[in-house]
Amino acid sequence: MIINIPEKSDFSIHNIPFGIFSTSDRSPRAGVAIGDHILDLVAVAELDVFDFNTAVLEKEVLNDFISLGKEITNKVRKDIQHWLQDEDSVLAGKPGLFVLQSAAQMHMPVYIGDYTDFYSSIEHATNVGTMFRDPAKALMPNWKHIPVGYHGRASSIVVSGEDILRPKGQTLPKDSDTPIFGPSQRLDFELEMGFITGKNTNLGESISTGDAEDYIFGMVLLNDWSARDIQKWEYVPLGPFLAKNFASHISPWIITLEALDQFRVSGPEQNPQVLPYLEFNGEKNYDINLEVGIAPEGTEEQVVCHSNFKFMYWNMTQQLAHHTVNGCNINIGDLYGSGTISGKDENSYGSMLELAWMGTKPLKMKDGSERKFIQDGDTVIMRGYAEKDGKRVGFGEVSAKVLPAK
Ligand code: CA
Repeated sequence: MIINIPEKSDFSIHNIPFGIFSTSDRSPRAGVAIGDHILDLVAVAELDVFDFNTAVLEKEVLNDFISLGKEITNKVRKDIQHWLQDEDSVLAGKPGLFVLQSAAQMHMPVYIGDYTDFYSSIEHATNVGTMFRDPAKALMPNWKHIPVGYHGRASSIVVSGEDILRPKGQTLPKDSDTPIFGPSQRLDFELEMGFITGKNTNLGESISTGDAEDYIFGMVLLNDWSARDIQKWEYVPLGPFLAKNFASHISPWIITLEALDQFRVSGPEQNPQVLPYLEFNGEKNYDINLEVGIAPEGTEEQVVCHSNFKFMYWNMTQQLAHHTVNGCNINIGDLYGSGTISGKDENSYGSMLELAWMGTKPLKMKDGSERKFIQDGDTVIMRGYAEKDGKRVGFGEVSAKVLPAK
């Protein structure tokens, strides 16, 4: 190996994720995370080792690189894996190829034109339905037939590390029929993963479940911030609006679908049987361990949730097939959120709404405080990794601090 990779690093030789970084003397550009370092792809391109137009690596987002297609982007990934492991490779002994991640700033990896958020965890949908409606009818009649989703807001998606302001809005006080205006009192995170599409379709075209993976470039961690009190008042009859669009955070490194291939597993059994356009073959879920930590201002982080992406009832190929079955076109760089990823255990719930069960079971923090929802000064950190046969492929983290409303 021509660079040291710490054991247990998320960014092992099996990973090779793509992102956009800058340093004090390097403009934003494409890079690959490896161990504690970043391999500067513009510096690699200067060695004349790539046979495509490497101007795409100097862009401030990866959309043009992704648009080269998997044939090329997968080859770049494979070549880098090979070069890093070969002591005599084209990269060996060349100066200026690596920078420390700690010395770099990460940027949004792609320009996101459209953002869709699904609602595909049966445990999450059941928990929310139980809290807000009748526990006996927690799931809506459509839920097991349709990968339910809605169109979100792309403009407010930001990269890990950016602070957010507590949102303000309308809420309806308990036992009142007159709304009030002010900072949300029920700010929440949603533990999600997102996939980023790597190929366009034309209006009128549909993507089958069998072809869907060709259209998925890779995945990120997603914190889909939610203001529960605003949501509760506004969501009938058309669904989420200002409770969701004030900010969502993504992790900076896009883990390719190919890097995740070895972690495929079967998803939960789908019963009743889905309509033919949602049928699929093979293992389409992924065993990705997820956790959420809360670090109150000035104190140690406390992990409050352990979940797993493999719990998802609807898989990504079904989500994309459903999204396009009516002819809706997709673009390179679009983001598709999984929906909050909850498991069966109480410590696997992917939101404060569920973990503290609508405020009835506050979480005890190490500093002695309690949390029903997220407080000002709290930093919320999400992490994810897959591991099998000693091979680890991780996402790093998506982290963000909440500042008081202005
Ligand atoms: Ca969501």
